[in-house]
Amino acid sequence: MPIPQWTDELEQGINKPEDLARLKLNDQDISQMTAVANIYKIRIPRYYLNLIDWENPNDPVRRQILPSAEELLWDERELEDPVGDLVHSPTDRLTHRYPDRVLIYPTYQCSAYCRFCFRKNRLRENSQGFSESAFKKALNYVKAHTQVQEVILTGGDPLMLTDQELAYIREGLEAIEHIRMIRIHTRMIATLPRRITRDLLAALKGPSMKCIVTHINHPREITSETADACRRIRNAGYMLLNQSVILRGVNNNVETLRELMRELVYTLGVKPYYLHHCDLARGTRHFRTTISETNMLMRQLRGHISGLCIPDYVLDLPGGYGKIPMGPSYIKSRDAHSRIFTNYGGESCAYQEIVD
Ligand SMILES: *Cc1c(COP(=O)(O)O)cnc(C)c1O
Ligand code: SF4
Repeated sequence: MPIPQWTDELEQGINKPEDLARLKLNDQDISQMTAVANIYKIRIPRYYLNLIDWENPNDPVRRQILPSAEELLWDERELEDPVGDLVHSPTDRLTHRYPDRVLIYPTYQCSAYCRFCFRKNRLRENSQGFSESAFKKALNYVKAHTQVQEVILTGGDPLMLTDQELAYIREGLEAIEHIRMIRIHTRMIATLPRRITRDLLAALKGPSMKCIVTHINHPREITSETADACRRIRNAGYMLLNQSVILRGVNNNVETLRELMRELVYTLGVKPYYLHHCDLARGTRHFRTTISETNMLMRQLRGHISGLCIPDYVLDLPGGYGKIPMGPSYIKSRDAHSRIFTNYGGESCAYQEIVD
C-alpha cells in the first residue's frame, strides 16, 4: 500500500461542518459542533483526528480541535483583532510592529483550525490562500525598508502552500540583501508532521538562515512521526524552536508543562521559545488562564527542570503594543543597590551590587 501523502491526510480528514457527522459522537454533540463550525472554520487532518482519545471527553487533543458551544459565548470585551495585527499593517498581508522584523501572511489557510486561535475571527472572514500580487507588494515593502533583517512567515499556516510557492517566496526574500533570517511559524509539526518532506526542505534550501517555530501545546501531540519530522528539519540545519499557548483544560498544570517542555527538548531537540498567554480573541474565554495562575506554573518550571526547557511567558498586548515578558519575578524586595530574591525553592537571599 502506498504511504499516504500529506495532502491525502488533509483530504481524508474533516474539512467542512457536514464531515463532523462521521465522528464517533452522539447526535447532540454533533449538532452543537456543526452549529459552531458553521461560524468558525473547521479542519482536522486524519493524522490529528487519530490522536484524539475518544473515550475521554476532556481529552486535551480533542479540546484543542473539536468545536464547543462555548466558542459562541462571546464576551463583549473580547476583540476581533486581539493583538493589533492590523494596527501596523502598511500593506496587505504584512505587519511591521518592531523595527527589524516583519510578519508576512502568505496564506490564511491552516491544516487544522485550532479552537483557541488568536486569529480565528480574521480567518473566518478571510480564507484566501497564496496571492502573488499581495506577496509582491509585501516584498517591495521589505525591499524598501533596509532596517528589516528578519521575515517571519505566519498565517494561517505557511506550510499549507505548495513547495513551488514556498520556493518562490524564499527566492524573493533571499534576493533582498538585508534579509538575514527567514522564520516560519507552523502548527503542522503537531497536526500533520508528514508535511516535512524532502521536497519541502529542498524548496526552502538557500543561503539565508532558517528557523522553524513549531506550535506544540501538549505532550500527546508528540509522536514518532513528530520526532522524524524534527530530525529532518534539524539535519537540514535549521534553528528549531517551539511556542505554546497556555490553555485551560489542555496544559495548565505543572506535570503536563514539565513533560511537554522536556519532550520538546529531549525527544525532539526543539528549544521552547515562548509560552503565550491566551489572547483576547472573541470566543476563546473558556481557554484562558489568569496571569497569576500561569506565573505560579512558571515558578514550578525554573530550576526544577533544565534551563533548556524553560520558555519565556509572554503576553501580546491588544492594540499592537507588542509582547511583554510576564515573569514570574524573583525579586522579593529592593532598594537602590540591593535586592532580596526568592530562589526556585522558596529560599530568600540578599544580593548587594558592588560597582565603582
Ligand atoms: C510576535 C511578533 C513578532 C516576533 O516577535 P519575536 O519576539 O521576535 O518572536 C514580530 N512581529 C509581530 C507583529 C509580532 O506579533
Ligand atoms: S494553525 Fe495557527 S493560525 Fe491556524 S488556526 Fe491554529 S493557531 Fe490559528
